[in-house]
Amino acid sequence: MERQVLPYGRQTIEDDDIAVVAEALRGDFLTTGPAVEAFEDAFAATVGARHAVACSNGTAALHLAMLALDVRPGEVVIAPSITFLATANCARYVGADVIFADVDPDSGLMTPATLEAALSKVGGRRLRAVLPVHLRGDSVDLPALAGLAAAAGAVLVEDAPHALGTTMRYGNVAETVGDVRHSAMATFSFHPVKTIATGEGGMVTTNDAALAVRLRTLRSHGMVRPEGGDPWWYEMPEPGFNYRLPDILCALGHSQLKKLPRFAARRRALAVAYHEALLPMAPTVRIAAQPAWSDPVLHLMTVLIDFDATGRSRRQVVEALKAQGVGSQVHYIPVHTQPYYQKLYGQQSLPGAEAWYARCLSLPLYPGMADEDVDHVASALRAALA
Ligand SMILES: *Cc1c(COP(=O)(O)O)cnc(C)c1O
Repeated sequence: MERQVLPYGRQTIEDDDIAVVAEALRGDFLTTGPAVEAFEDAFAATVGARHAVACSNGTAALHLAMLALDVRPGEVVIAPSITFLATANCARYVGADVIFADVDPDSGLMTPATLEAALSKVGGRRLRAVLPVHLRGDSVDLPALAGLAAAAGAVLVEDAPHALGTTMRYGNVAETVGDVRHSAMATFSFHPVKTIATGEGGMVTTNDAALAVRLRTLRSHGMVRPEGGDPWWYEMPEPGFNYRLPDILCALGHSQLKKLPRFAARRRALAVAYHEALLPMAPTVRIAAQPAWSDPVLHLMTVLIDFDATGRSRRQVVEALKAQGVGSQVHYIPVHTQPYYQKLYGQQSLPGAEAWYARCLSLPLYPGMADEDVDHVASALRAALA
């Protein structure tokens, strides 16, 4: 019997998730209704933030963050080159310029050293925000990055779609990604491959009440209803967007969020199994480096492969894996090499990002995988490299 291809990631939707969606569909609201606030409150409590603002997707979350900070044309935002396009693009949506930070070649993360190098490129421009990404689910060194950003007069915004459930310990204090102790905001996505899924969906967390109000206003056309106004009255001090997350999807998100402990435990168990199964292939194949402070719920099982040593190209390996029923993906093509950014900023050299890109490959990781699937992936990879 032919094996079904294991995708690199996929959602886990169960009967009770479907039931809450059906219930929301029979309700009165469909869009802005009680499930929105319920999901937001539960999300804020889960990650330990004061406020959570739901929005249509992770890209909208980033755009709202830039708008809420009033980032303006000609100002500058720093983003890592190894990330999804949206991390950099959100700066362009508000007319700001992007400086691409390099990453550590073994973890793929922005580091204090790569941030310092990026800061040296700001020149006379006004730096507003630094957007580190918790790539794969491992947390960046938030206290160090926050210190550097603050010294440069910028705020930290964590792009955290990979790291829902990740905890870290920078000193003696246990922290959770999204609790925004070191940053102004953190953004999340509920795309099907992410840790919880709503199809499309996003969230911004913040501990700043004024930012939360601004995010909510900008999420819904920039409309405000001044107190004491007529029942129909609304005003628009500045235009916003329609970036609302419908009640239907918030009901699904809330149901999914309740399963986070189980999803996280399964992802952690699968990561342990991967470590054991891939160990014999070291040093040709190594799992991406985990920083000492990070206790991740991994979104991606990214391995670094010394393709030169194997005599196989990544394309050959991807195709050989696929022939054995194993899906894989590359996270990510360095964003600074995209045609749009090359045209805008010219060719740049970011050796860490390029070294990461040359070796990275993400293998299947999602709660629905069986233990045997990990062994199958490992033996398929061994065969693909042989
Ligand atoms: C998924 C993702 C986004 C965008 O989220 P969408 O919900 O797909 O818009 C942004 N940044 C990172 C790092 C992501 O992984």
